[in-house]
Amino acid sequence: MSNFGTTAVHTGSEPDPRTGAVIPPISLSTTFAQAAAAQPVGDFEYSRSDNPNRGQFEQVIAALEKGKYGLAYSSGSAATANILQSLAVGANVVSISDVYGGTYRYFARVATAHNIKTSWVADIKNNLAAAITPETRLVWIESPSNPTLTITDIAAVAKTVRERREAGQEIYLVVDNTFLSPYVQNPLELGADIVMHSVTKYINGHSDVVMGVVVVKDDGLHEKLRFMQNAIGAVPSPFDSWLAHRGVKTLHLRAAAASTNAQAIAEYLESQLGGLVESVSYPGLKSHPQAELIARQHRNGLGGGMISFRIKGGAKEASDFCAAAKIFTLAESLGGIESLCEVPAAMTHAGIPKEQREESGVYDNLVRLSVGIEDKDDLVADIAQALKAATA
Ligand SMILES: *Cc1c(COP(=O)(O)O)cnc(C)c1O
Repeated sequence: MSNFGTTAVHTGSEPDPRTGAVIPPISLSTTFAQAAAAQPVGDFEYSRSDNPNRGQFEQVIAALEKGKYGLAYSSGSAATANILQSLAVGANVVSISDVYGGTYRYFARVATAHNIKTSWVADIKNNLAAAITPETRLVWIESPSNPTLTITDIAAVAKTVRERREAGQEIYLVVDNTFLSPYVQNPLELGADIVMHSVTKYINGHSDVVMGVVVVKDDGLHEKLRFMQNAIGAVPSPFDSWLAHRGVKTLHLRAAAASTNAQAIAEYLESQLGGLVESVSYPGLKSHPQAELIARQHRNGLGGGMISFRIKGGAKEASDFCAAAKIFTLAESLGGIESLCEVPAAMTHAGIPKEQREESGVYDNLVRLSVGIEDKDDLVADIAQALKAATA
């Protein structure tokens, strides 16, 4: 096994055997010739079931997530839907309560049509055992959570799930690893059974593809999900697969640069506490209440590229801050090479009632930053001037 950067650049990216092209060609054909009935000439039959570019992308992500199989989808949401639809009618899911908004919507308003019900649990490490029922088939977590960047002890949750499975229950742990990328965290190594990503974010990394991926080790889980991937058909195009594959080749460089930049910005924000800044949450700060867990769970204790902080003031100051930033663009989404700024209470989390939102720390003055790979000093200076402009 090679190290991360070598795997990212080379796995699934052999020179084309016919032409020697160093970069795999984009294979747009929807169908593939057969020598005799049911005897394909190569490895492919029909592009929904499998195609060369998607297969190559699935291979590199499986390797980077330390799994055996990758399954790519047309979005992260489609990946979520495929996992949920692989469950039998009447199944129960136990999920962290501050899950990604689109995941909440699918669990609460779509999966329920198949009588799949979700139990929402806060502080899942301590409350999981009590929440699991005989019908529970999945436990769903994100770490860090969005947007407050609370960490869940994945190994501890995995242990509870594994004990239930050893006692005969068919139950699996899913980790949505979108916020850190496989460079910073590998949930399968911590005992998770299924890892999913919105490839739209760090893996593609250039804010120009919507795509999702799932990685597993287990043969039976893979067979079930592969069947669903083909049956539902929410698969990415060869071109998107090719673009995302190109993107992931620099994931290690981008994720490391984003972490370095975010660390500098978080430390700057922390230096403004008591002044223009009310609180800062960043997994790379020594002051993070879960610093010891982060040191165990993240590669080299890296904090990743996401920061959230409360600006002095309210909704207006938060909005003014993002508008005043010149390098940070005021926009939703995350994980791209460019820095973004958003106000969760008014944007990504606006659908949640205020009281419930504030219970999970999403106050009107909370600002979320997705830190890109621009020059570190320029970014810190931009944050400093935007803070002053917004609170003037
Ligand atoms: C964006 C996102 C998703 C959904 O992915 P899409 O590609 O937008 O469908 C799921 N989980 C997390 C944590 C995300 O950030």
